[in-house]
Amino acid sequence: MILLRTKTELRNYVRQVRQTEQSLGLVPTMGALHPGHGSLIRASADKHPATVVTIFVNPLQFGANEDLDQYPRRLQADMDMAASFGATAVFAPSPDEIYPQPTQTLIRHDALDALYCGAFRPGHFQGVLTVVAKLLNLAQADAAYFGSKDYQQLHLIRQMALDLDIPTQIVGLPTVREQDGLALSSRNEYLSAQERQNALGIYQGLLRAREAYESGQRDPATLADLVRSQLGLADSIQYVHVLDAATLLPTPALSGPGVILVAAYYGKTRLIDNIVLN
Ligand code: AMP
Repeated sequence: MILLRTKTELRNYVRQVRQTEQSLGLVPTMGALHPGHGSLIRASADKHPATVVTIFVNPLQFGANEDLDQYPRRLQADMDMAASFGATAVFAPSPDEIYPQPTQTLIRHDALDALYCGAFRPGHFQGVLTVVAKLLNLAQADAAYFGSKDYQQLHLIRQMALDLDIPTQIVGLPTVREQDGLALSSRNEYLSAQERQNALGIYQGLLRAREAYESGQRDPATLADLVRSQLGLADSIQYVHVLDAATLLPTPALSGPGVILVAAYYGKTRLIDNIVLN
């Protein structure tokens, strides 16, 4: 497994892969890798002889009072983990390498940029879409792998690829959870033992709502209340939204597949999760 630090090194690596007519998978991450990332890397490695994992804590997607400085960075451990899941290269550039000049061009989803997570994290999705577009352009991969854990993000990336004719296939994979249901996240390590215990309510609430859906409940407000009923130990709830899964917009009653998005704070840690209703 090799470490690529610059865009030139990445481009040269991609050229080399292409010269042998091999296909290439891309797994964009911010590092602090866990088995959730691992599932994306493994899916790519199963499909492509070459898999590039990008590790970049993207300043453009963090707000002024967010955890950019605190975000865990551990390149060597991440490289070992990426290799163990089948990556052939890690691209870990510096912020100056990715943004040699302040970017003047931002990619923004028109309808959903400021909704749900975007309402609480202004500019976040513009930062995400802009960096993902840059990484997709740099890597020219056949497929790029993303987790459904960040459901809104995945939805926006799919739409961006469609709208901008990005040829890389966007693959979304299921959320990997701890045995007790907590969705794996690099931010879980901020949680105290008590906060982690309290945070189990998120998945319990999502499961409770899914059970009601499976018993025929289609009213978004009722389903959202069922989730909220399990979030009593959250320090604050940012939102619970029950949405049409295809448009990611509210609907008076779920007629097709739905999704429930949740964001809540446990201590100072903001956790997000979701469940698809189908
Ligand atoms: P991050 O490093 O948190 O930006 O995440 C990088 C990629 O890993 C994104 O596509 C995430 O959706 C995905 N991811 C994060 N956590 C999980 C998880 N628990 N299961 C599956 N994918 C995940």
